[in-house]
Amino acid sequence: MSNTYRVAIITDEKKIEITEKELKLPEGSQVLIKVDSCAICTLEQRIFNGVMKRYPFAGGHEASGTVVAVGSKVKSLKAGDKVAARLLTSCGECYYCRSGHENQCVISFIANIHEGVGGPGGFSEYMMIDAKALYKMADDLDLTYAALSEPLACCVHSINNADIELGDDVVVIGVGIMGAFHIQLAKLKGARVIACEVDEDRLEIARKMGADILINSKEVNAADKVKEFTDGRGADVVFCTAAIPQLAADSIQMTGKTGRVIMYSSFHPNKPVELNVNNVHSTEMNITGAVNANTRDFLAATRLLSYKMIDPSLLVSDIVPLENIEYAFEQAIDPKTYRIIVKM
Ligand SMILES: [Zn+2]
Ligand SMILES: [Zn+2]
Repeated sequence: MSNTYRVAIITDEKKIEITEKELKLPEGSQVLIKVDSCAICTLEQRIFNGVMKRYPFAGGHEASGTVVAVGSKVKSLKAGDKVAARLLTSCGECYYCRSGHENQCVISFIANIHEGVGGPGGFSEYMMIDAKALYKMADDLDLTYAALSEPLACCVHSINNADIELGDDVVVIGVGIMGAFHIQLAKLKGARVIACEVDEDRLEIARKMGADILINSKEVNAADKVKEFTDGRGADVVFCTAAIPQLAADSIQMTGKTGRVIMYSSFHPNKPVELNVNNVHSTEMNITGAVNANTRDFLAATRLLSYKMIDPSLLVSDIVPLENIEYAFEQAIDPKTYRIIVKM
């Protein structure tokens, strides 16, 4: 083991530099991990693209690796363990952290994994992480897939907000990686899943994820079609996983009496949509959102991956070595791709 390790840092719009940092040994509750994989998520893409100008930024919050050494106070992990890291940590002190809603933490994440630079820092060869932010994964799980624990955990949180019951009609709008995870999770919950997408290739992914009914919303009116499949009632649950305000309006349109609508996606541009409040009044529908994941959602996601109950293999579009990270980012911002994984 050499005394230094490499970290990729976004230093400006479309600029990533690889720098060297000093390698240290873990103390107390710290764990040193050798990073295997880190996926490129929307946050990193926005900073790379210049949509969010936050430089320098050590990106990468969807990371997996192997434990190298543990501090004296660590009980749950040992050298050689495969782990996924929850890098968008919460403060543990605010009202929401104390009331079991860490995903709503007011401090959100202030990660300083690497000395002298902010950010979760997953695009690096080594990371020093507190044991409580690490989740042990099955020995036979591919670490490429373990890196997808965080996006899956956000979807688990969303699914938990929807109270799906056996036999429910669940609509998933949009079949990006998040939509694809929602489909698999809703199937595990015993729902009949209807996927709405405008892209034929993505509808094919939806079918492979287990969706029962596919609707190409470019060709038909999706809300009418959903009503047709549900004897005119509308869906029990609708997840909007696409960032288009019109689709948020459509989601509400296709929800039936006592149904739940979950605005999973963030919306850019954040254009308000009109709401028929009398319809909300009379149908008793629930309109809610889902953002980030709680620790229990993260735990559930790591178990689902370890147990092979969720198959993310079709959602990894490419695996790129750290040396070519700029190329990896160029691919990631192409809307056609699913996750791009950077391999250390
Ligand atoms: Zn993410
Ligand atoms: Zn907090």
